[in-house]
Amino acid sequence: MAQISFFNTLERRVMPFESIEPGKVKMYTCGPTVYNYAHIGNFRAYMFEDILRRTLEYFGYEVKQVMNLTDVDDKTIRDSKACGLPLREFTAKYKAAFFEDLKTLSIEPAAVYPAATDHIPQMIKLISVLMEKGFGYQAEDKSIYFSIDKFPEYGKLAHIDRENQRSGVRIKNDEYAKDSVADFALWKAWDELDGDVAWDSPWGKGRPGWHIECSAMSSEYLGDHFDLHTGGIDNMFPHHEDEIAQSEAASGKKWVNYWLHCAHLMVNGEKMSKSLGNFYTLRDLIGKGWTGREIRWVLIGAHYRKKLNFTLDALGAARETLGKFDDLFNRMRSVDAAGDGSEVAEAVKGAKEAFANAMADDLNISEALAAMFDLQRTANRLADGGKLTKAGAEQVLAAYRDFDRIVCCLEVDVIREQPTVPAEVIALAEERAAARKNKDFAASDRLRDEIAKLGYQIKDVPGGKYELTALK
Ligand SMILES: [Zn+2]
Repeated sequence: MAQISFFNTLERRVMPFESIEPGKVKMYTCGPTVYNYAHIGNFRAYMFEDILRRTLEYFGYEVKQVMNLTDVDDKTIRDSKACGLPLREFTAKYKAAFFEDLKTLSIEPAAVYPAATDHIPQMIKLISVLMEKGFGYQAEDKSIYFSIDKFPEYGKLAHIDRENQRSGVRIKNDEYAKDSVADFALWKAWDELDGDVAWDSPWGKGRPGWHIECSAMSSEYLGDHFDLHTGGIDNMFPHHEDEIAQSEAASGKKWVNYWLHCAHLMVNGEKMSKSLGNFYTLRDLIGKGWTGREIRWVLIGAHYRKKLNFTLDALGAARETLGKFDDLFNRMRSVDAAGDGSEVAEAVKGAKEAFANAMADDLNISEALAAMFDLQRTANRLADGGKLTKAGAEQVLAAYRDFDRIVCCLEVDVIREQPTVPAEVIALAEERAAARKNKDFAASDRLRDEIAKLGYQIKDVPGGKYELTALK
């Protein structure tokens, strides 16, 4: 098995990846809060996690991925009330939409998608353990809080400076800024804003805090020590920091070995926001005529730790690039010359090695894509010169099938309908072939220009044959 390395946020360095159990990886991913359609910034994170998982599988690991669905928190309650629907009915719609979107983007499904509201007993149990061990306390408002004073390692992930921290300051909101580091809510006592959303607990009627959901559900499905935890960089604090505090305080041991975070997605160089008019859900883009395959290509194109600048131009470029791959695969399928394929064997081997080495090196997608483009150039050059054999072309196709185990949008074996070339154009092309056979190059050139006027480019290939392609 190849040595894979990842940048571990816990240690702020690239380190070799070693799984706890040989050949197996347990991975937890913070999933969506199902109060709206996911936007492409959310999908940037899910796409990074898909590439991570597919890379581990590419190198032979068996991966068990768990992705939670947050279907009770401040936002889901607020918005379900705003549209007058019971919480469960409101979130069901967005859960279904989320699964459809994952399919559109060819994101491999997780093993389990536990929903928070189905795991309230596990959360109550975990909070009870924290209470027994002295990490939790009930405040005057009847809510249960985690005392960060009791957990000296608090801040180790987000590198929090605890010097100025005031002891006993509490925050009930699910999300807050790094400079308001405080005791956070494990269990929120019911108040009228919660409406009919409440469960009974040893501490009275209420609901879980957001952070406890992930600690409870990850240990339910992955145990209390596992390999990988991932998410967007904006989840690092407070969410992931609080998850670590809860899980490690309860178990008394290290929780997760590797934390991987992906950077933000920008749109046209700016932070995506509804007020700037650059806010896109996946559905917005599909509605504009782009395909899941094209959107996937753009979302995988930047290294996960770099900001990804999403533009509609980038989607246009994706369409063009994927079209050129389609052309390459069609061309490879049409090669029928005999031979052993040795003409391209070195290039195929080199591209596969370069691709694998790049992905093993902290998911270096840019270099991996460069290897794919190199092989494309080589294969086209050999085909241009009539030097490619059927055996060679098959090696090329096999290499792209292999790359597509991670990239997953090349669609190597999808035969696309070629636009029908008008009979008039075919007649001129035949006339031109005859002129060339008679070495009448003046006539051949004139006919080529006529064909171009009708919107087609003619290219000569060995054996007196030609290829017609539509001019764009
Ligand atoms: Zn989480």
